[in-house]
Amino acid sequence: MKNYNPEQTLCEVRREFGEHGGVTPSISRSSTFTVMEPGIMPEIFDGIRGPDKGGCFLYSRHFNPTVDILSRYLSAMEGSEAAVCTASGMSAISCTLLQLCNHGDHIVSSNTIYGGTHALLEELFPQMGITTTFVDPTDTAAFEASITAKTRVIYTEAVGNPTLKVADIPALSKLANKHSIKLVVDNTFTPMVISPIQLGADIVVHSMTKFINGASDLIAGAICAEKDFIYKLMDLHTGRVMLLGPTLDPRVAFDIIQRIPHLAIRMREHSLRAMAIAGHLEKIGAPVTYPGLTSHPQHKLLKSLINKSYGYGGILIIDCKTKSKAEELMSILQNKERFGYIAVSLGYYDTLISCSGSSTSSEIPPEDQLKMGLSPGLLRLAIGFTGSLAARLEQIERAVKAVGLNPN
Ligand code: PLP
Repeated sequence: MKNYNPEQTLCEVRREFGEHGGVTPSISRSSTFTVMEPGIMPEIFDGIRGPDKGGCFLYSRHFNPTVDILSRYLSAMEGSEAAVCTASGMSAISCTLLQLCNHGDHIVSSNTIYGGTHALLEELFPQMGITTTFVDPTDTAAFEASITAKTRVIYTEAVGNPTLKVADIPALSKLANKHSIKLVVDNTFTPMVISPIQLGADIVVHSMTKFINGASDLIAGAICAEKDFIYKLMDLHTGRVMLLGPTLDPRVAFDIIQRIPHLAIRMREHSLRAMAIAGHLEKIGAPVTYPGLTSHPQHKLLKSLINKSYGYGGILIIDCKTKSKAEELMSILQNKERFGYIAVSLGYYDTLISCSGSSTSSEIPPEDQLKMGLSPGLLRLAIGFTGSLAARLEQIERAVKAVGLNPN
């Protein structure tokens, strides 16, 4: 097991007090900032003087003091040298990959990734001359076999959406090093649970929309990496974050800053509940998959990757085989049992349930869905922590039995 303690590294970040000594930081809403001496302005544009080098803030698409606080939290959590926040998870992914790849370059990606990312790689990037080979994330040899002289990036999700396949990050990191290419890991499903940079990843991307914010009331993303890479992204003349402009609003950043201190507590509770529900479903013979169960094919691997005490994450899947059976179960779970809500997204304090093949993975063609192990009846349950656990176990047992999904 890993001993990295993201709660502690977060706690060690220099505390930012509000303008009047408030225990919360202030929200700096200014889009532009006063430069005290005219000679400093060109130096800021040339990247010689940032706020950390005797310069100052310039313009909020570049750096904003409030957003910067959140970036420091993210980099402390992942143990990266630096981080930059973006307006969404998708912009964190697209800016990262467009910074690393030019026309003619190639990516080797896990085939079990969020549908939007799949569409970015499969539909949009080829129009820019960037191609992708998709492979099973559990098959490190397949990644290696797909690397060519044009490959710049290995891309994977730490725990894949929605199949919950686990990537061997240390092995992929070795591979990336061997071929002098970058390993980019989307850690949206497992903040705190897994720290990919500690396991050898070069860059971690997040959709902060999910667990990190935890309230399903905003959209945000982040990129964590070495200073050099973050500075490249922020370069005033050429950086992809600067040029594409997915700027995080300081008011949104402030909301996330307020929720980060209880992320560890929330992740533990999401994991604890998901584990209990998955164990119960397995006991009654329901077709459940959860990486915390010893029956999960990559359980041992995941156990060797996770940080102590945050569990195995808050997401489980139930394979109902057909879309109609999945819809029947979702309807009972929401409308009869009040177990959770039929809604996309994850990381909310209430349970969110969706049928991935016809929702968040619907960008992926049916034949590719089959290849990645996504059945049309796969239900993804992002387990929340409202209500009593005992009542939740009774609700899901009744629902699963009502649709005949348990032989026991
Ligand atoms: N990465 C993963 C694993 C996701 O599940 C999602 C969204 O569902 C994203 C990235 C995209 O994030 P956002 O909706 O914040 O752009």
